[in-house]
Amino acid sequence: MSAIYIHFPYCNSKCRYCNFYSETSLNTRKRFIQALLKEIELRAGELQRETVQTIYFGGGTPSLTPTEDMALVVEALKHHFKIAPQIEFTVEINPEQAKFDYLRALKELGVNRISMGVQSFNDRVLHFLGRRHTAQQALEGIRHIREAQIDNISIDLIYGIIIRGGKEWLHDLEVALSQPIQHLSAYALTLEENSILYKELAQKKPSAYQVGKDMDENIALGDMNLLLEKIANSPLKRYEISNFAIPGYESKHNSAYWDSTHYLGFGPSAHSFDGEKRYWNVPSTEAYCEAIEAGESYFEVEELSLTDHYNERVLLTIRTTKGINLKKIEEHFGVAYHAHIMNEIALLNKAWYQIENDHLILTEAGIALTDHITIQLLYDSIM
Ligand code: SF4
Repeated sequence: MSAIYIHFPYCNSKCRYCNFYSETSLNTRKRFIQALLKEIELRAGELQRETVQTIYFGGGTPSLTPTEDMALVVEALKHHFKIAPQIEFTVEINPEQAKFDYLRALKELGVNRISMGVQSFNDRVLHFLGRRHTAQQALEGIRHIREAQIDNISIDLIYGIIIRGGKEWLHDLEVALSQPIQHLSAYALTLEENSILYKELAQKKPSAYQVGKDMDENIALGDMNLLLEKIANSPLKRYEISNFAIPGYESKHNSAYWDSTHYLGFGPSAHSFDGEKRYWNVPSTEAYCEAIEAGESYFEVEELSLTDHYNERVLLTIRTTKGINLKKIEEHFGVAYHAHIMNEIALLNKAWYQIENDHLILTEAGIALTDHITIQLLYDSIM
């Protein structure tokens, strides 16, 4: 199994919390599509005919791309890679672009899953976050996705924002869970380096005080607890710290990353992993296009050591409800790494975890301390 990710690097404007690579000028869009098609062609041999099980168009805002250009990309992927017949094919979409005709055209291309960046059903919160859409547009977007007969819908929400307050977060959750969604990703607002919020705080702008006030760990914890309470009475189940799905609708693409599956990332700033090495495409559309047009290198490579692989496995799988497969730690990394993790587990508070069928699974108490526990289990932390 393998996965393909494509990064579409354009957004209409920058959300205040975002640190993903994206550009707000669409001038290079045609040139980018040509460079992207070239990259797909250049890397045709990389999966060695492994079957691709998931395709994910992310960004940026992929839904700013006309469907004619998307069709060229899909055509190129089908031509150069072996794509499974029952693939999970996701496109990220912003509510203001979730129009019926556009969604119908995506469906014609084979898209069968939409991930919509809703973030909140409260217009005041959306304004604070710098989103361009309204709560009403998000609701209409979900309706249009259904009308276009795409029946695997994921939405994102952001929590831990003081201006919303507990009651309004409750309202957000109640609206979200009343919608015909199969998947929910919920993330705490964090101050990401290079985000507008981060810069406002660093520059002590008049808005900085408000920014500082609008983020609080205790608020995030309270919001998460409310989320878990509401999810418990819904058909969605948690399968990763921030991800919830109706059983059977867990994101195959996310799971591919957690299972160390080979994946190819195309487009500026996209990452790839071939089982041994990690590749990073240059995070600039201009530099990416120039390098591809000139036949020059457009990525950096890092060879991962056994310890890097082990640490990555711990970091990714500890967040899932399946947990860390301890048997596989021994099989893949050897007895020294297995002995290390078992010794470290023995030092943890027993209320934080359980071991089930050779898997280390965090309890609710443990999930609240995931970062702390992860550091303890990493191999470098004892060297
Ligand atoms: S959050 Fe999404 S839409 Fe907003 S700037 Fe970042 S990539 Fe673009």
